[in-house]
Amino acid sequence: MKNNQPHSRTYVGASKANTTQTYSQTTRPSRKKTKYARLVLAYVIFIVCSVSALGGGVYLLYRTGLFGNSSRSEGEASSTGLSYISSLATTIATSAPEATTAETTPPTPAGDLTGYTVILDPGHGGWDRGTSYPYNSDKNEEPEITIKIAEILKSELESRGAKVYVTRTEDKYYSLYYRIAETHLICMDIAKERGILPFSAEHEQELRTKLENIKTVNDNSYDKGGMGFMGGTGVGEELRELFEMEYQLKDVVFMSIHINAHYDDNTHEPVNHHGIEVTYVTDDAVNTYEGNPKNQTAGAPVRDPYHGRPNENNLLYCQTLYDTITAGMPELKSNMDKPVYTANWAVTRKIGLVGTLLEYGFISHETDRNILTNDESLKKVCGYVADGIQEYFKQIQ
Ligand SMILES: [Zn+2]
Repeated sequence: MKNNQPHSRTYVGASKANTTQTYSQTTRPSRKKTKYARLVLAYVIFIVCSVSALGGGVYLLYRTGLFGNSSRSEGEASSTGLSYISSLATTIATSAPEATTAETTPPTPAGDLTGYTVILDPGHGGWDRGTSYPYNSDKNEEPEITIKIAEILKSELESRGAKVYVTRTEDKYYSLYYRIAETHLICMDIAKERGILPFSAEHEQELRTKLENIKTVNDNSYDKGGMGFMGGTGVGEELRELFEMEYQLKDVVFMSIHINAHYDDNTHEPVNHHGIEVTYVTDDAVNTYEGNPKNQTAGAPVRDPYHGRPNENNLLYCQTLYDTITAGMPELKSNMDKPVYTANWAVTRKIGLVGTLLEYGFISHETDRNILTNDESLKKVCGYVADGIQEYFKQIQ
Protein backbone atom coordinates (compact mmCIF):
# COMPACT_ATOMS: atom_id res chain seq x y z
CA MET A 1 0.00 0.00 0.00
CA LYS A 2 1.24 3.44 -0.85
CA ASN A 3 0.82 4.70 2.68
CA ASN A 4 3.07 1.94 3.93
CA GLN A 5 5.93 2.81 1.65
CA PRO A 6 6.22 6.55 1.33
CA HIS A 7 9.17 7.90 -0.54
CA SER A 8 11.69 9.05 1.99
CA ARG A 9 14.94 9.47 0.11
CA THR A 10 16.81 12.16 1.94
CA TYR A 11 17.96 15.33 0.32
CA VAL A 12 21.54 14.43 1.18
CA GLY A 13 21.29 11.35 -1.04
CA ALA A 14 19.70 13.38 -3.78
CA SER A 15 22.54 15.86 -3.64
CA LYS A 16 25.04 13.06 -4.03
CA ALA A 17 23.14 11.76 -7.04
CA ASN A 18 23.33 15.13 -8.70
CA THR A 19 27.01 15.44 -7.90
CA THR A 20 27.72 12.05 -9.45
CA GLN A 21 25.73 12.90 -12.51
CA THR A 22 27.60 16.16 -12.92
CA TYR A 23 30.92 14.37 -12.60
CA SER A 24 30.07 11.98 -15.40
CA GLN A 25 29.08 14.90 -17.59
CA THR A 26 32.49 16.47 -17.12
CA THR A 27 34.21 13.37 -18.51
CA ARG A 28 32.13 12.93 -21.61
CA PRO A 29 32.86 16.16 -23.53
CA SER A 30 36.63 15.67 -23.13
CA ARG A 31 36.54 12.99 -25.83
CA LYS A 32 35.72 15.63 -28.40
CA LYS A 33 38.50 17.96 -27.36
CA THR A 34 40.23 18.22 -30.78
CA LYS A 35 37.20 19.53 -32.57
CA TYR A 36 35.42 21.38 -29.83
CA ALA A 37 38.27 22.39 -27.55
CA ARG A 38 37.00 25.86 -26.77
CA LEU A 39 33.44 24.76 -26.24
CA VAL A 40 34.58 21.96 -23.95
CA LEU A 41 36.84 24.27 -22.00
CA ALA A 42 33.94 26.66 -21.42
CA TYR A 43 31.75 23.72 -20.43
CA VAL A 44 34.30 22.30 -18.00
CA ILE A 45 34.68 25.71 -16.39
CA PHE A 46 30.90 25.92 -16.08
CA ILE A 47 30.68 22.49 -14.47
CA VAL A 48 33.55 23.18 -12.08
CA CYS A 49 31.83 26.37 -11.03
CA SER A 50 28.52 24.53 -10.66
CA VAL A 51 30.08 21.78 -8.55
CA SER A 52 31.69 24.41 -6.34
CA ALA A 53 28.36 26.13 -5.98
CA LEU A 54 26.70 22.79 -5.22
CA GLY A 55 29.34 22.19 -2.56
CA GLY A 56 28.47 25.59 -1.18
CA GLY A 57 24.85 24.54 -1.12
CA VAL A 58 25.69 21.36 0.74
CA TYR A 59 27.68 23.40 3.24
CA LEU A 60 24.75 25.77 3.60
CA LEU A 61 22.47 22.79 4.27
CA TYR A 62 24.97 21.57 6.84
CA ARG A 63 24.94 24.95 8.52
CA THR A 64 21.18 25.18 8.51
CA GLY A 65 20.73 21.82 10.18
CA LEU A 66 19.41 19.47 7.50
CA PHE A 67 22.35 17.15 8.16
CA GLY A 68 21.26 17.16 11.77
CA ASN A 69 24.30 18.95 13.17
CA SER A 70 23.20 22.45 13.94
CA SER A 71 20.37 24.47 15.37
CA ARG A 72 16.92 23.09 14.79
CA SER A 73 15.04 26.22 15.58
CA GLU A 74 15.80 27.84 12.25
CA GLY A 75 13.19 26.22 10.07
CA GLU A 76 13.13 29.14 7.67
CA ALA A 77 16.87 28.97 7.20
CA SER A 78 16.55 25.30 6.33
CA SER A 79 13.97 26.07 3.69
CA THR A 80 16.21 28.72 2.21
CA GLY A 81 19.12 26.31 2.00
CA LEU A 82 16.90 23.72 0.45
CA SER A 83 15.46 25.93 -2.27
CA TYR A 84 18.93 27.27 -3.01
CA ILE A 85 20.43 23.86 -3.62
CA SER A 86 17.31 22.70 -5.43
CA SER A 87 17.49 25.58 -7.90
CA LEU A 88 21.19 24.89 -8.42
CA ALA A 89 20.50 21.26 -9.24
CA THR A 90 17.85 22.31 -11.72
CA THR A 91 20.23 24.82 -13.28
CA ILE A 92 22.89 22.16 -13.75
CA ALA A 93 20.47 19.64 -15.17
CA THR A 94 18.85 22.01 -17.63
CA SER A 95 21.83 24.16 -18.71
CA ALA A 96 24.59 21.63 -19.27
CA PRO A 97 25.12 20.08 -22.72
CA GLU A 98 24.17 16.40 -23.05
CA ALA A 99 21.96 16.73 -20.01
CA THR A 100 18.74 16.09 -21.86
CA THR A 101 18.51 12.50 -20.62
CA ALA A 102 19.29 13.47 -17.03
CA GLU A 103 16.66 13.00 -14.39
CA THR A 104 15.04 16.32 -13.69
CA THR A 105 12.60 15.11 -11.06
CA PRO A 106 13.05 17.37 -8.06
CA PRO A 107 14.39 15.47 -5.05
CA THR A 108 12.14 14.82 -2.08
CA PRO A 109 12.96 17.38 0.58
CA ALA A 110 14.63 16.11 3.73
CA GLY A 111 12.16 15.67 6.52
CA ASP A 112 9.35 14.18 4.54
CA LEU A 113 7.30 12.04 6.91
CA THR A 114 4.22 12.09 4.74
CA GLY A 115 2.20 8.92 5.18
CA TYR A 116 3.71 8.11 8.59
CA THR A 117 1.95 8.28 11.93
CA VAL A 118 3.35 8.99 15.39
CA ILE A 119 1.39 8.54 18.63
CA LEU A 120 2.75 10.71 21.43
CA ASP A 121 1.97 9.99 25.07
CA PRO A 122 3.02 12.79 27.44
CA GLY A 123 3.47 11.15 30.84
CA HIS A 124 1.62 11.98 34.09
CA GLY A 125 -0.85 14.85 34.67
CA GLY A 126 -3.58 15.87 37.10
CA TRP A 127 -2.89 14.47 40.57
CA ASP A 128 -0.04 12.35 39.16
CA ARG A 129 2.82 14.87 39.27
CA GLY A 130 5.67 12.52 38.25
CA THR A 131 8.99 14.05 39.21
CA SER A 132 10.18 17.61 39.80
CA TYR A 133 13.08 19.86 40.77
CA PRO A 134 13.74 20.62 43.57
CA TYR A 135 12.84 17.24 45.02
CA ASN A 136 9.13 16.80 45.70
CA SER A 137 8.34 20.42 44.90
CA ASP A 138 5.77 22.02 42.64
CA LYS A 139 8.49 23.52 40.43
CA ASN A 140 9.76 22.09 37.13
CA GLU A 141 7.14 19.37 37.24
CA GLU A 142 7.20 16.44 34.85
CA PRO A 143 3.58 16.67 33.56
CA GLU A 144 4.07 20.24 32.38
CA ILE A 145 7.38 19.53 30.69
CA THR A 146 6.16 16.35 28.96
CA ILE A 147 3.12 18.13 27.57
CA LYS A 148 5.33 20.95 26.28
CA ILE A 149 7.64 18.43 24.58
CA ALA A 150 4.60 16.74 23.02
CA GLU A 151 3.33 20.07 21.65
CA ILE A 152 6.68 21.03 20.16
CA LEU A 153 7.34 17.55 18.78
CA LYS A 154 3.84 17.35 17.30
CA SER A 155 4.34 20.56 15.38
CA GLU A 156 7.82 19.49 14.23
CA LEU A 157 6.53 16.12 13.00
CA GLU A 158 3.50 17.69 11.33
CA SER A 159 5.72 20.20 9.55
CA ARG A 160 7.42 17.14 7.99
CA GLY A 161 4.10 15.68 6.89
CA ALA A 162 3.46 13.14 9.66
CA LYS A 163 0.05 12.46 11.18
CA VAL A 164 0.34 12.91 14.95
CA TYR A 165 -1.95 11.80 17.78
CA VAL A 166 -1.44 12.87 21.40
CA THR A 167 -2.96 10.89 24.29
CA ARG A 168 -2.99 13.83 26.73
CA THR A 169 -3.32 17.51 25.82
CA GLU A 170 -4.19 19.02 29.20
CA ASP A 171 -3.00 18.74 32.77
CA LYS A 172 -5.51 16.06 33.78
CA TYR A 173 -5.05 12.57 35.09
CA TYR A 174 -5.21 9.77 32.55
CA SER A 175 -4.44 6.25 33.73
CA LEU A 176 -1.86 4.15 31.91
CA TYR A 177 -4.65 1.90 30.67
CA TYR A 178 -6.61 4.90 29.43
CA ARG A 179 -3.60 5.76 27.25
CA ILE A 180 -3.20 2.15 26.10
CA ALA A 181 -6.91 1.87 25.26
CA GLU A 182 -6.75 5.16 23.38
CA THR A 183 -3.76 3.89 21.38
CA HIS A 184 -5.62 0.68 20.45
CA LEU A 185 -8.63 2.76 19.34
CA ILE A 186 -6.40 5.00 17.18
CA CYS A 187 -4.86 1.89 15.59
CA MET A 188 -8.32 0.43 14.92
CA ASP A 189 -9.28 3.68 13.18
CA ILE A 190 -6.12 3.61 11.05
CA ALA A 191 -6.63 -0.05 10.13
CA LYS A 192 -10.27 0.58 9.31
CA GLU A 193 -9.43 3.55 7.10
CA ARG A 194 -7.03 1.33 5.16
CA GLY A 195 -9.53 -1.49 4.88
CA ILE A 196 -7.37 -3.90 6.90
CA LEU A 197 -9.38 -4.06 10.11
CA PRO A 198 -9.45 -7.80 10.83
CA PHE A 199 -12.73 -7.82 12.79
CA SER A 200 -16.38 -8.28 11.95
CA ALA A 201 -18.52 -5.19 12.52
CA GLU A 202 -19.97 -6.83 15.60
CA HIS A 203 -16.58 -7.75 17.07
CA GLU A 204 -15.21 -4.31 16.25
CA GLN A 205 -18.04 -2.76 18.24
CA GLU A 206 -17.45 -5.15 21.09
CA LEU A 207 -13.77 -4.23 21.30
CA ARG A 208 -14.48 -0.51 21.00
CA THR A 209 -17.01 -0.69 23.83
CA LYS A 210 -14.53 -2.49 26.08
CA LEU A 211 -11.75 -0.02 25.28
CA GLU A 212 -14.03 2.96 25.86
CA ASN A 213 -15.02 1.45 29.18
CA ILE A 214 -11.36 1.25 30.23
CA LYS A 215 -11.09 4.95 29.44
CA THR A 216 -14.21 5.73 31.46
CA VAL A 217 -12.93 3.83 34.52
CA ASN A 218 -9.60 5.70 34.13
CA ASP A 219 -7.81 3.80 36.89
CA ASN A 220 -4.80 1.51 36.85
CA SER A 221 -6.11 -1.04 39.30
CA TYR A 222 -7.27 -4.47 38.22
CA ASP A 223 -9.99 -4.66 40.86
CA LYS A 224 -11.78 -1.54 39.67
CA GLY A 225 -11.80 -2.82 36.09
CA GLY A 226 -9.36 -0.15 34.92
CA MET A 227 -7.31 -2.72 33.00
CA GLY A 228 -10.30 -4.40 31.39
CA PHE A 229 -9.34 -7.37 29.23
CA MET A 230 -5.67 -6.38 29.57
CA GLY A 231 -5.59 -7.17 33.29
CA GLY A 232 -3.59 -10.11 34.54
CA THR A 233 -0.44 -11.49 32.96
CA GLY A 234 0.33 -12.69 29.44
CA VAL A 235 -1.79 -12.13 26.37
CA GLY A 236 -5.51 -12.86 26.24
CA GLU A 237 -7.44 -13.40 23.03
CA GLU A 238 -8.59 -9.80 22.54
CA LEU A 239 -5.19 -8.25 23.24
CA ARG A 240 -3.64 -10.78 20.86
CA GLU A 241 -6.07 -9.72 18.12
CA LEU A 242 -5.14 -6.07 18.63
CA PHE A 243 -1.42 -6.92 18.61
CA GLU A 244 -1.75 -8.84 15.34
CA MET A 245 -3.48 -5.82 13.80
CA GLU A 246 -0.85 -3.40 15.15
CA TYR A 247 2.10 -5.49 13.96
CA GLN A 248 0.87 -4.70 10.42
CA LEU A 249 1.07 -0.94 11.01
CA LYS A 250 4.77 -0.62 10.28
CA ASP A 251 4.46 3.06 9.45
CA VAL A 252 3.06 3.91 12.90
CA VAL A 253 5.25 4.35 15.99
CA PHE A 254 4.49 5.10 19.61
CA MET A 255 6.44 7.31 22.00
CA SER A 256 5.72 7.87 25.67
CA ILE A 257 7.39 11.09 26.84
CA HIS A 258 8.88 11.30 30.33
CA ILE A 259 11.59 13.04 32.25
CA ASN A 260 13.83 11.53 34.85
CA ALA A 261 15.17 12.53 38.23
CA HIS A 262 17.55 10.93 40.67
CA TYR A 263 17.90 12.11 44.25
CA ASP A 264 19.79 10.71 47.18
CA ASP A 265 17.36 8.72 49.32
CA ASN A 266 18.41 10.41 52.53
CA THR A 267 19.48 13.93 51.64
CA HIS A 268 17.20 14.36 48.60
CA GLU A 269 20.09 16.10 46.89
CA PRO A 270 20.53 15.34 43.16
CA VAL A 271 22.67 12.38 42.16
CA ASN A 272 24.95 12.97 39.19
CA HIS A 273 22.94 11.00 36.61
CA HIS A 274 22.11 12.79 33.40
CA GLY A 275 21.24 12.31 29.74
CA ILE A 276 18.45 10.60 27.82
CA GLU A 277 17.29 7.02 28.22
CA VAL A 278 15.42 5.19 25.49
CA THR A 279 13.54 2.11 26.62
CA TYR A 280 11.80 -0.61 24.66
CA VAL A 281 10.07 -3.88 25.25
CA THR A 282 10.69 -7.41 23.98
CA ASP A 283 8.65 -10.59 24.35
CA ASP A 284 11.39 -12.16 26.46
CA ALA A 285 11.56 -9.16 28.77
CA VAL A 286 7.79 -9.23 29.31
CA ASN A 287 7.59 -12.97 29.82
CA THR A 288 10.46 -12.93 32.30
CA TYR A 289 8.84 -10.07 34.15
CA GLU A 290 5.26 -11.27 34.09
CA GLY A 291 6.26 -14.88 34.67
CA ASN A 292 7.65 -13.80 38.01
CA PRO A 293 4.98 -14.64 40.62
CA LYS A 294 5.68 -11.45 42.55
CA ASN A 295 4.45 -9.43 39.57
CA GLN A 296 1.18 -11.31 39.26
CA THR A 297 -1.95 -9.71 40.63
CA ALA A 298 -3.87 -11.98 42.99
CA GLY A 299 -7.10 -13.16 41.38
CA ALA A 300 -6.13 -11.90 37.92
CA PRO A 301 -5.82 -14.39 35.06
CA VAL A 302 -2.46 -15.79 33.92
CA ARG A 303 -2.59 -16.16 30.13
CA ASP A 304 -0.41 -17.18 27.17
CA PRO A 305 3.14 -15.83 26.97
CA TYR A 306 3.79 -12.90 24.65
CA HIS A 307 5.17 -13.82 21.23
CA GLY A 308 5.48 -12.30 17.77
CA ARG A 309 6.42 -8.75 18.76
CA PRO A 310 8.86 -7.11 16.31
CA ASN A 311 11.69 -7.10 18.87
CA GLU A 312 14.44 -6.07 16.44
CA ASN A 313 12.46 -3.10 15.22
CA ASN A 314 11.85 -1.95 18.77
CA LEU A 315 15.59 -2.02 19.42
CA LEU A 316 16.37 -0.37 16.07
CA TYR A 317 13.84 2.39 16.76
CA CYS A 318 15.31 3.12 20.20
CA GLN A 319 18.96 2.87 19.22
CA THR A 320 18.35 5.11 16.20
CA LEU A 321 16.63 7.66 18.40
CA TYR A 322 19.44 7.62 20.94
CA ASP A 323 22.17 7.88 18.31
CA THR A 324 20.45 10.66 16.39
CA ILE A 325 19.54 12.78 19.40
CA THR A 326 22.97 12.52 21.03
CA ALA A 327 24.81 13.11 17.74
CA GLY A 328 22.96 16.41 17.49
CA MET A 329 23.16 17.22 21.18
CA PRO A 330 26.15 15.44 22.79
CA GLU A 331 25.29 17.11 26.10
CA LEU A 332 22.33 14.71 26.31
CA LYS A 333 24.54 11.61 26.14
CA SER A 334 23.83 9.46 29.14
CA ASN A 335 26.50 8.96 31.79
CA MET A 336 25.00 5.59 32.68
CA ASP A 337 26.08 2.19 31.41
CA LYS A 338 23.13 1.36 29.20
CA PRO A 339 20.95 4.24 28.01
CA VAL A 340 19.04 2.02 25.53
CA TYR A 341 17.48 -0.90 27.37
CA THR A 342 14.43 -3.12 27.78
CA ALA A 343 11.85 -2.10 30.35
CA ASN A 344 8.39 -3.35 31.17
CA TRP A 345 6.39 -0.17 31.12
CA ALA A 346 2.71 -0.94 30.69
CA VAL A 347 2.36 1.57 27.85
CA THR A 348 4.86 -0.27 25.68
CA ARG A 349 4.09 -3.79 26.98
CA LYS A 350 0.37 -3.67 26.22
CA ILE A 351 0.56 -2.37 22.66
CA GLY A 352 1.72 -4.10 19.47
CA LEU A 353 3.21 -1.03 17.80
CA VAL A 354 6.92 -0.40 17.67
CA GLY A 355 7.35 1.98 20.56
CA THR A 356 9.44 3.52 23.25
CA LEU A 357 9.22 5.23 26.58
CA LEU A 358 11.81 7.96 26.20
CA GLU A 359 13.19 9.79 29.23
CA TYR A 360 14.20 13.21 27.93
CA GLY A 361 16.82 13.85 30.61
CA PHE A 362 17.17 14.31 34.35
CA ILE A 363 15.42 17.34 35.78
CA SER A 364 17.64 16.82 38.84
CA HIS A 365 20.78 17.53 36.76
CA GLU A 366 21.68 21.10 35.87
CA THR A 367 22.75 20.48 32.27
CA ASP A 368 19.59 18.53 31.45
CA ARG A 369 17.40 20.94 33.41
CA ASN A 370 18.69 23.90 31.40
CA ILE A 371 17.55 22.10 28.25
CA LEU A 372 14.23 20.84 29.63
CA THR A 373 13.17 24.25 30.89
CA ASN A 374 14.08 26.21 27.77
CA ASP A 375 11.69 26.29 24.80
CA GLU A 376 14.40 26.93 22.21
CA SER A 377 16.46 23.99 23.51
CA LEU A 378 13.39 21.77 23.50
CA LYS A 379 12.75 22.72 19.88
CA LYS A 380 16.27 21.65 19.07
CA VAL A 381 15.82 18.33 20.90
CA CYS A 382 12.51 17.70 19.14
CA GLY A 383 14.14 18.36 15.78
CA TYR A 384 16.60 15.55 16.46
CA VAL A 385 13.85 13.28 17.79
CA ALA A 386 11.99 13.82 14.51
CA ASP A 387 15.24 13.12 12.62
CA GLY A 388 15.57 9.88 14.59
CA ILE A 389 12.01 8.79 13.82
CA GLN A 390 12.57 9.58 10.17
CA GLU A 391 15.86 7.67 10.11
CA TYR A 392 14.14 4.65 11.69
CA PHE A 393 11.46 4.61 9.01
CA LYS A 394 14.16 4.89 6.36
CA GLN A 395 16.04 1.93 7.86
CA ILE A 396 13.05 -0.41 7.80
CA GLN A 397 12.08 0.32 4.20
ZN1 LIG B 1 7.56 9.79 34.20
